[in-house]
Amino acid sequence: MALSGRCVVLFRPLRVVKVLTTAQRKTSHQNTVIPQKKIQHKFSNHLTTTVAKFSTKVLTEIEANEIRNNQNQCWNCGQKLSLMSKNFCENCESILPLAQDENYFSLLAIKKDFRVSLNELQFNFKKFQILLHPDKYTLKSETERNISETVSSFINKAYFTLLKPLSRGIYLLELHGEYMTEDVNSDDPEFLMEILSLNEQIAESDSIPEKRKVFNDVKLIVDDLTIKIAESFHGEDIQKAKQHLISYKYYDNILQKLKEMLPPV
Ligand SMILES: [Zn+2]
Repeated sequence: MALSGRCVVLFRPLRVVKVLTTAQRKTSHQNTVIPQKKIQHKFSNHLTTTVAKFSTKVLTEIEANEIRNNQNQCWNCGQKLSLMSKNFCENCESILPLAQDENYFSLLAIKKDFRVSLNELQFNFKKFQILLHPDKYTLKSETERNISETVSSFINKAYFTLLKPLSRGIYLLELHGEYMTEDVNSDDPEFLMEILSLNEQIAESDSIPEKRKVFNDVKLIVDDLTIKIAESFHGEDIQKAKQHLISYKYYDNILQKLKEMLPPV
């Protein structure tokens, strides 16, 4: 995986923290925190302006006692937490519960958009899992272990939701107050006939090249729909995004079915 210079800077200091003295740890910790601040700053406008109104849905998945308190203070030392305090208290370095305005995008420091960089998503997922994994907290207090387990499982959910375009799109719809499930059906008879016809075409194609041709045709449609979904979200046309996502679901199902029939390229 290609790593950007910025990301490498984030990663390196973490591996040396354990062998340093307490005084050195403080210095080293500062080194690790500074790049995080940069990321946080980059997304801070997004965090403060768009996330708060969507927070309810996310919060239902977390135990109430594991969410930061209303005063947004560190549970351990009582220090008032700033926007920069993403995962750790800046004062006592304790692991922090999720912020009330956290969502899957902000959790993984990814811009809230349908278009995501998979490299950035994967890199950030691994980085946060290493930082917050329960294995690092086995010798810590029960509170810290609980926080680590909750945050870590939330990071897993965030990653796998944002990884696939369909689940990412459905989640983005939710953040805009619009709901859709992966088993939703289209109510457009013309569209359903088109899908039926494609399925018949696949059933009747008895050679690999024929199936490969259908695959390539459907792939073009899926790529086009991906662009349309991204543009709809970008233009805040949420209903349009939803309609394209429903179409995407059908074509993507066909692609997955064909993938299972075709030998790997
Ligand atoms: Zn603290």
